[in-house]
Amino acid sequence: MATASITHLDRDDLDVIIIGAGFAGLTAATRLSEQGRSVLVLEGRDHVGGRSYSGEVAGVTVDLGATWVAERHEAVLDLARSVGCTTTPQYHHGDNLLTMHGERVVWSGAMPLSGPVDAEDVARVLEEFSTLVETIDVDAAWDSPRARELDAISFGAWLDTLEAGVSTRALMAVVARVQWGCSPGDVSLLHALRYVRAGGGLEHMLAVEGGQQQDRIAGGSQQIATRLAERLGERVVLGAVVEAIVQDEERGTVTVRTSLGDATAPYVISTTAPAHRIDIDFQPDLPPQGQGLARTWTMGSLSKAFVAYDRPFWRKDGLSGESIIDGGTFFITFDVSPSDDGPGVLMTFCDDRLYDAFTPEDRRDRVVRQLVELYGAQAAQPVDYVDHCWGTDSFAPGGPNPSIAPFAMTSYGPALAEPHGRIHWAGSETAGAWAGTLNGAVLTGRRAADAISELLGATTGV
Ligand SMILES: Cc1cc2nc3c(=O)[nH]c(=O)nc-3n(C[C@H](O)[C@H](O)[C@H](O)COP(=O)(O)OP(=O)(O)OC[C@H]3O[C@@H](n4cnc5c(N)ncnc54)[C@H](O)[C@@H]3O)c2cc1C
Repeated sequence: MATASITHLDRDDLDVIIIGAGFAGLTAATRLSEQGRSVLVLEGRDHVGGRSYSGEVAGVTVDLGATWVAERHEAVLDLARSVGCTTTPQYHHGDNLLTMHGERVVWSGAMPLSGPVDAEDVARVLEEFSTLVETIDVDAAWDSPRARELDAISFGAWLDTLEAGVSTRALMAVVARVQWGCSPGDVSLLHALRYVRAGGGLEHMLAVEGGQQQDRIAGGSQQIATRLAERLGERVVLGAVVEAIVQDEERGTVTVRTSLGDATAPYVISTTAPAHRIDIDFQPDLPPQGQGLARTWTMGSLSKAFVAYDRPFWRKDGLSGESIIDGGTFFITFDVSPSDDGPGVLMTFCDDRLYDAFTPEDRRDRVVRQLVELYGAQAAQPVDYVDHCWGTDSFAPGGPNPSIAPFAMTSYGPALAEPHGRIHWAGSETAGAWAGTLNGAVLTGRRAADAISELLGATTGV
């Protein structure tokens, strides 16, 4: 049965209302439904998946949002298997390219450490960073031994204190833009350390084989969400923008007011990113720490463009299609072609500041021009193009992750998953291990479902 397409919502026969049909929300809904609970998922967009969203280029399904899963992402891999989705390895054969200070070099491995890159300096800075990562409490970064000190400085300012070299800074700037959709100077060092700790360490986060970029979901990651939603059927309502959540402690209920009408249940799980909690009128209001969280955990912004060619021509030249660029419209590319026979598809990560404000035609021209600089004249003849600017999404904009400034982690982090009365929180940001990934989102969906299940069990004796 398809998701519900309704014009008026009026339900009071529910156990749990779940806000958001991303991986966290759909996981929670599936788990509670399997336990016989009556659930309703309210999604503001016209599709499920949240930050997992598919597009098409030259007939190939591509991930405009989340792409990769790692071997260690067991929760999302289990979920994929449960709905019959499989993985496909990220193409990773041949040499990679680096363009830095105008110099173009080939490299292999997890990081470019030759040519214009000062390998010794990179190693020195990464060692310092990794030592700090080890000190982070992944479940409560704000309680880590030097939390206040590490949260009082930006990642960029910390690089200044180490007198990091130009090439080290350039590489760290790419990491920040991919991970948090911002510059190193915009993000708290503690936040950066927490995300790297949660992602299994820098080595795991940067690697393809055995690391975070190892596999993609065949047919696109959104397919997992679509299949989960198909199973949930009319328990998922699209186009239902949650505007207010009103708790009535006397009656033991929560009423969720949406653009389509109201729904009432004993408990709510909200999976919106912390920044999007601010768009909801909570009655009673969130406590000061919860309000601060919603105000300061702003989303970073990343754009993705996919360029298709008849064939992955770079493969014949022994190139992997992987590249890092220290400046320009895009700063990373990967080869996501279905096979050697074509079409050839390059996925590029674009800097929102140099991309989002242009017309679709200009965006395409800028990316293609930069690809010609990297891969030569053959790159000038694409057969198709598609992109997505997460920062300018009309609903729940931003991603991949929050980019939070100094002090926002220690001041407001404890409110991430702290229930507000009958409202429980899930979503990738609220995860400990694997925060910032699909896997983290799934783990939080499970966690919130189990907490509510226990509470319902306590009240109904089931
Ligand atoms: C460009 C990009 C690349 C990424 N790459 C990867 C990757 O390769 N691997 C990986 O593991 N992760 C990646 N991520 C991160 C991953 O997508 C997220 O961590 C994960 O999808 C978050 O899932 P979630 O369910 O917690 O939140 P979301 O997917 O954000 O779901 C929350 C849902 O709540 C809805 N919502 C918000 N407010 C309201 C409201 N008021 N009313 C109703 N509905 C509302 C939203 O529309 C959304 O659908 C990437 C993300 C982006 C954007």
